[in-house]
Amino acid sequence: MHKSAPRAGSARDLDEAAAERAFSVPMRTRFRGVTAREGLLVQGAAGWGEFSPFAEYPPRECARWWAACHEAAEIGWPEPVRDRVPVNVTVPAVGSEHAARIVAESDCGTAKVKVAEAGQSPAEDIARVEAVRDAIGPSGRVRIDVNGGWDVGTALRMLGELRRFDLEYVEQPCATLEELAEVRRRSGVPVAADESIRRADDPLKVRAADAADIVVLKVQPLGGVRAALRVAEACGLPAVVSSAVETSVGLAAGVALAAALPELPYACGLATTRLLAGDVSAEPLVPVDGHLPVRRVGVDEERLAAVEIAPGPWRRRMAAARRAWEAGDAADPAT
Ligand SMILES: [Mg+2]
Repeated sequence: MHKSAPRAGSARDLDEAAAERAFSVPMRTRFRGVTAREGLLVQGAAGWGEFSPFAEYPPRECARWWAACHEAAEIGWPEPVRDRVPVNVTVPAVGSEHAARIVAESDCGTAKVKVAEAGQSPAEDIARVEAVRDAIGPSGRVRIDVNGGWDVGTALRMLGELRRFDLEYVEQPCATLEELAEVRRRSGVPVAADESIRRADDPLKVRAADAADIVVLKVQPLGGVRAALRVAEACGLPAVVSSAVETSVGLAAGVALAAALPELPYACGLATTRLLAGDVSAEPLVPVDGHLPVRRVGVDEERLAAVEIAPGPWRRRMAAARRAWEAGDAADPAT
């Protein structure tokens, strides 16, 4: 066999396969309809990377997630300009007592509250936001995330009720840019765009439509730390870095992005390890004094063993995503 052209099944391929490990970590609370986060961890020359697109995404939509994993494992990240990153605690659509407890235990000065969950009433949302404001105190910051769940009328009505809790901003109150722009104009509450940003030129459209004050950037859907930095620069709006609820290995890429942004005026949505009932690192990225440290994260064999699954399907998924990326066929993830 010629050394420069390894065939499938060669020793080199087997070595590579040994550094690809699949995981399935249960979620503590159902989140975006998901009860477990699954993916592949890849060890390369630069460290560990995570490839964890959601189950329903076909290869074209996974291509950028592959690029982000490849950057983490084989290339590494740009130099940070800060050594820790402020983060918010995320409060799922739980009851108000539970919500207050999550905030009190979080060590964070900023809380993001999920609202507009299917099957819940406006009164439950209001009670949850009130409980979070009480728990975090007057100097804390409270933002809400609607995941596009309101129409304009509902958004204006709910924001009229909720603004007495001094909202920092509302994330994706409605689905479309036109609706976001109208809510932004009429509510007086700053608007952050999240689901509206899934591809490189989306933030420019958001800005052109006057649809948001803030953009939410996620490393995997945008294709890596460098790609997300370019998006932030082109867009010119303040950015909040959020996770896709990764293990600490994947979160480290979000921290690297937040650490490399020239300006970081808002706490980031990266304190999401507590949404998972396990992790793959012996030193998980959990907030201390409302901040995450900027560092690489490795895989701990014992922790991984507790959540490891057969890698075959995930290796095939990643290979298909890579082929889509290399064919220039990256598509937008579904939102
Ligand atoms: Mg969001």
